Amino acid sequence: MKNYLQNEFLTPFLNFIFPPICFTCDELLSESENKICSSCLLSIKRTSSEDRTIQIMKERFRKNGAVDNFFGLYYFEHEGVFQKLIHLLKYESRKFVAELLGEELAKQLVNKNNFIDVDGIIPIPLNKVKQRERGHNQSELIAKSISKILQVPLLKNVVQRKKYTITQTKLNLLERKENVKDAFVIENKYSDLIFNKHILLVDDVITTGSTIEEVASCLKNIGAKKISAASLGVAELEEELKSNQETEINVNRN
Ligand SMILES: [Zn+2]
Repeated sequence: MKNYLQNEFLTPFLNFIFPPICFTCDELLSESENKICSSCLLSIKRTSSEDRTIQIMKERFRKNGAVDNFFGLYYFEHEGVFQKLIHLLKYESRKFVAELLGEELAKQLVNKNNFIDVDGIIPIPLNKVKQRERGHNQSELIAKSISKILQVPLLKNVVQRKKYTITQTKLNLLERKENVKDAFVIENKYSDLIFNKHILLVDDVITTGSTIEEVASCLKNIGAKKISAASLGVAELEEELKSNQETEINVNRN
């Protein structure tokens, strides 16, 4: 059925009867647009290395020591286009989201010196129950797009989630750390893929970075040389948290 619908002769005909519309705003798409209209795509707020949120994230990673580089492409804004797209990917299995945005993320990584010598890409795993329920792991789909563009192997199933962690949405930084502690396992048979290698960890959205840090620590424990992390989205820190964190960072520097 899928092939039948993608038939090159039939597609223009179907597009005439059912003109393609944007998945997030329902407006008609132009011929050059694919799935999402350009005004929706442009409305997604991009990060900048100058932003306080990004600086705080990097400072957090630096203090912990497991993650050496970090890049997140967009901000996760509630009710925004990016949130809608992540929802389509996670809960409605719309894989084009991972292709479209993963490609955009990869294009940014290609231009960054810190990411050019990556040896392998590892997606943050879901636990088996969740993966079975959803039928896919969104981070793995994003990692797959990145792997294609960077031409670096995707190391699937190397890291497994052994503990059924509770959803982190309402947890604070310390609770999140506790929640993911010892949640991941790497079997010995994979150690050659990791030892002395530069690994890129990929996640859909990074909130506090606790999960990424936990996986990075596991990989460093078995001899990874360098860990970089990339995510499509970053949760922008609340103003109040930014100012608290600022004091904390200043105190530590003095
Ligand atoms: Zn749109």
